[in-house]
Amino acid sequence: MVGLLLLGTVTSAASYRVKPGDTLGGIAARHGLSPAQLQASNPRLRGGALQAGWVLTVPERPTPGRRYVVAPGENLSSIAARAGVSLGALLQANPQYRGGRAVWAGATLQIPARGGAAPVARPATGGATIRTASTAGGRGLWLWPVTGHHSVSSGYGERELLGQHEMHYGIDISAPVGTPVVAARAGRVLEARADFARGWGWTVVLEHGGGWITRYAHLSATLVRAGEQVVQGQLVGRVGNTGRSTGPHLHFGTYLRWGPGENWTPRDPLSFYP
Ligand SMILES: [Zn+2]
Repeated sequence: MVGLLLLGTVTSAASYRVKPGDTLGGIAARHGLSPAQLQASNPRLRGGALQAGWVLTVPERPTPGRRYVVAPGENLSSIAARAGVSLGALLQANPQYRGGRAVWAGATLQIPARGGAAPVARPATGGATIRTASTAGGRGLWLWPVTGHHSVSSGYGERELLGQHEMHYGIDISAPVGTPVVAARAGRVLEARADFARGWGWTVVLEHGGGWITRYAHLSATLVRAGEQVVQGQLVGRVGNTGRSTGPHLHFGTYLRWGPGENWTPRDPLSFYP
């Protein structure tokens, strides 16, 4: 029981020296992190640059049975996954985060023991656990934003676009210009505007319960106003080809807020659509 010897020690970060040939995605994956989480702990990676010899901060893996200090860019699902425990078990050990409340960097979590000594009858609580995960933003609650168009021309993650290596924090859904774009969940309009500076073109950003955020970009029209409440399935815009776009499609991004301002962790939208 190595964990017992270290009980009470606050989890901290380890470091990793970048080797020639390393990629952001590769390093992240080896440490059980998303590229965005690795970037959150290493601001100089945000521009996408990576050089051999750089020493990166890597949030230590959360250990079952110990306390863990949340690193920037992390969320409950990613921490549960890295610790090898279920999101339900993590929520059970940290009930203050139930109901989809987001966790912020610097917060201390109790990581439950795996398979546990705790009187948690796994089969009996399994169903409830899954339902908790759903209300926290998981599968089953999200509506596909372009009805009838399911072809994803570019997925989430590293890619080459116009000769540039980049991270694609969202998915591109092919659809003709003018196709209705609907709210994936109910919420409030954070942005409905032209944002050509960042390449989004005409874009709508919605904030939903639990800190979940969706972005709809490259639109030909926005049909809501900032501050407005929208219901799930409401028409919010139309597919276009505006901004940094190489053809008619909807760029659909999903994020989880972890702090004020634009402190959002990108998540793969397809993970919400079983
Ligand atoms: Zn895109």
